[in-house]
Amino acid sequence: MAAKTDLFQSPDYYLLDELLTEEQRMVRESIRNYVKKEISPIIEEYAQRAEFPRQIVQQLGDIGCFGPTIPTQYGGGGMDYISYGLMMQELERGDSGVRSTASVQGSLVMFPIYAYGSEEQRQKYLPKLASGEWLGCFGLTEPDHGSNPAGMVTTIKDAGDHLVLNGAKMWISNAPFAQVAVVWAKNEAGEIQGLIVERGMEGFTTPTTHGKWSLRASATGELVFDHVKVPKENIFPTIKGLKGPLGCLSKARYGIAWGALGAAMDCYDTALRYSKERVQFDRRIGGFQLQQKKLAEMITEITKAQLLVWRLGVLMNEGRATPAQISMAKRNSCEIAANIARDARQLLGGMGITGEYSIMRHMMNLESVITYEGTHDIHLLITGMDVTGLNAFK
Ligand SMILES: Cc1cc2nc3c(=O)[nH]c(=O)nc-3n(C[C@H](O)[C@H](O)[C@H](O)COP(=O)(O)OP(=O)(O)OC[C@H]3O[C@@H](n4cnc5c(N)ncnc54)[C@H](O)[C@@H]3O)c2cc1C
Repeated sequence: MAAKTDLFQSPDYYLLDELLTEEQRMVRESIRNYVKKEISPIIEEYAQRAEFPRQIVQQLGDIGCFGPTIPTQYGGGGMDYISYGLMMQELERGDSGVRSTASVQGSLVMFPIYAYGSEEQRQKYLPKLASGEWLGCFGLTEPDHGSNPAGMVTTIKDAGDHLVLNGAKMWISNAPFAQVAVVWAKNEAGEIQGLIVERGMEGFTTPTTHGKWSLRASATGELVFDHVKVPKENIFPTIKGLKGPLGCLSKARYGIAWGALGAAMDCYDTALRYSKERVQFDRRIGGFQLQQKKLAEMITEITKAQLLVWRLGVLMNEGRATPAQISMAKRNSCEIAANIARDARQLLGGMGITGEYSIMRHMMNLESVITYEGTHDIHLLITGMDVTGLNAFK
């Protein structure tokens, strides 16, 4: 398949650019240019082969996509949350798998090391993760505990001068190539604790998950711990309970809210261009009312979602965003993106199912994005609980 030219033009129906600072616009442009140059020309082939483009790890480190909100003294970008959101939007405009790599590294690996880690852990891991020298992964989900991570059965036991880790994690993004894993497990008192496990520790393996029809350009695997000896200094000293992993997930879900919107924007832009070029019955198909309905609804939903994530970004910057607000935005962006991808696919007719266009890849990717970091149902229940005060989970 020949490398393609990326013709993307970002929709901005309500002139939202005016809400951004000069710095935020510059950040967005630099990531947009990176995606056009390094991701769009290659990503379809990697996705078709179900191969992770390993070169992106160093590249994402070089352009500051790993831990953009982490302070600069640890190698992070020291940026605000809207800049971070725009980065995730642009990366996922290219491919959800590329954005997943950056989300996991920044929000699920670097954030907990920064927020819960000791100073020694920060110094040891953060600069290498920020630069892309090391790749990290986040192990929360288990074979029998997905939506209900509190039920996890992975354990850590105190063995005097070290800890012993036993159990297994499933569906772990970046696992097959990660040097470092942030793992959540229960101590002997049944409390959830986080610890850092390094590749090479005896008894630690990361088998690859094969056969995915979604996020094919992202590497997914298991984390298997068979009596792994972990030094005591690798445990997070200050955090216990589910609030540890949930704090990380809030950051990552925020990034997904922007990211999924990027995928939606790419599908809309592709469909709009196609509608103005493709002729049937001697007319451009964009002139048919049925196709205009699709496009008009797409841009309406994109514009509403852009306003939602921008406002959420303001609240994040002010330290006022609640987990339930983040859930609403994650859920909304995933839903509109999945619907837009499906409508865009139909607008392209048969061409919509091919790798000539990005739509089908986005559509398949979004099935993971709508499921991971809390399923669509779970985020709805979070909103329901928030507004009623009644817990419908159990
Ligand atoms: C490609 C990919 C990458 C991933 N990467 C990571 C990663 O890096 N790290 C990590 O830890 N995890 C990761 N995950 C796991 C992901 O977070 C879980 O798949 C997700 O949380 C759902 O868990 P589950 O698959 O076990 O589904 P289940 O929890 O078994 O849910 C099955 C269905 O039941 C519904 N359901 C569950 N409970 C309720 C309830 N109380 N009320 C109503 N409906 C309910 C769900 O909404 C869903 O529709 C990844 C998943 C995928 C697909």
